[in-house]
Amino acid sequence: MSAAAGRRRTRQVFCGDVAIGGSAPVSIQSMCTCPASRTEDALGEIEALAGAGCQIVRVAIRDEGDLESLPEILEKSSIPVVADIHFRHILAVGAARAGAAGLRINPGNIGSEDRVREVIEAAGDAGIPVRVGVNGGSLEKRLKKLAASEPARAMSESAAGYMEMIEGWGFTDMIFSLKSSDPAVTVEANALFAGSGDYPIHAGVTEAGPPLSGAARSVVALTKLLSMGIGDTIRISLSGDPVNEVIVAAALLSSLGLRDDFPRIISCPTCGRCHLDVNGIAGRLERELSGCGAGISVAVMGCEVNGPGEAREADIGIAGSKKGAVLFRKGEIVRTIDGDPLETLLEEARRLLGGT
Ligand code: SF4
Repeated sequence: MSAAAGRRRTRQVFCGDVAIGGSAPVSIQSMCTCPASRTEDALGEIEALAGAGCQIVRVAIRDEGDLESLPEILEKSSIPVVADIHFRHILAVGAARAGAAGLRINPGNIGSEDRVREVIEAAGDAGIPVRVGVNGGSLEKRLKKLAASEPARAMSESAAGYMEMIEGWGFTDMIFSLKSSDPAVTVEANALFAGSGDYPIHAGVTEAGPPLSGAARSVVALTKLLSMGIGDTIRISLSGDPVNEVIVAAALLSSLGLRDDFPRIISCPTCGRCHLDVNGIAGRLERELSGCGAGISVAVMGCEVNGPGEAREADIGIAGSKKGAVLFRKGEIVRTIDGDPLETLLEEARRLLGGT
């Protein structure tokens, strides 16, 4: 069964104009690496993320300075912004009042039930969802013993406890996340919790690591969960430029057949026949096209001897030649490229997409 075929039935929640759960496609999230008070930097990151295909972005609200900057970010961002708050419930209340598209809290570090309730009531008044985050590293005291022997069960019980508590206050606009830095624990915790109700799940591995090994750890866990039908929105947590998170998430969802609106970039591993900076061109191409909204396949191959044939499934591509590069479509060389190979390929890809 493909991952697309058997998704868990979940209720639908809206974060701004992005539907999460129900029949909505699995959405992609990321997070700014700078706090909200560095407004220009945050907005620059948000636009880069949105351009790559990110649909929801989270921003850390650490203090009153961040909270003051939030309205400008909300006003200028092209995608819904979720306020991420730890410890100080009053910041979460302020973010809800400021118009954030959603809140992300870990009830375990908000301080007391009364404070969590204040946050939930502020979200209810604002009509926005709350992502209830449970992190394997910061569980309630009552679960510490269980966490030592059965960490996944402890995380699931923690989330189920918060679910019941918040439902008891009449609030159901929730999304849950259960994250561990251990992919196997993350999978088991989410699988256990998925049986507790029909709330959408934000799936991801926390503190996954540097880009390459971190992507592998996230993909292992998310492939398993998504193949079980679990996961309505995802984040690939990686150190460094968050645009990488979106590119990995898009490739994952496309590969699992859960999304068909991201391009596939094909590139060869290169060998002694290579005449082109394949890695540099393919990397830039991926960033330029990631958010194009179409499932075209574009190839960057090192040589014209084998490249066009090896990438014959590509809608369009370039291959290195002794004189520079050639352009090919569906495996057939159509012409020699005179100018910059990357610019030419981008131009042709955009033409294919019906753009300029
Ligand atoms: S396409 Fe050419 S350069 Fe690339 S790996 Fe194949 S033979 Fe080598």
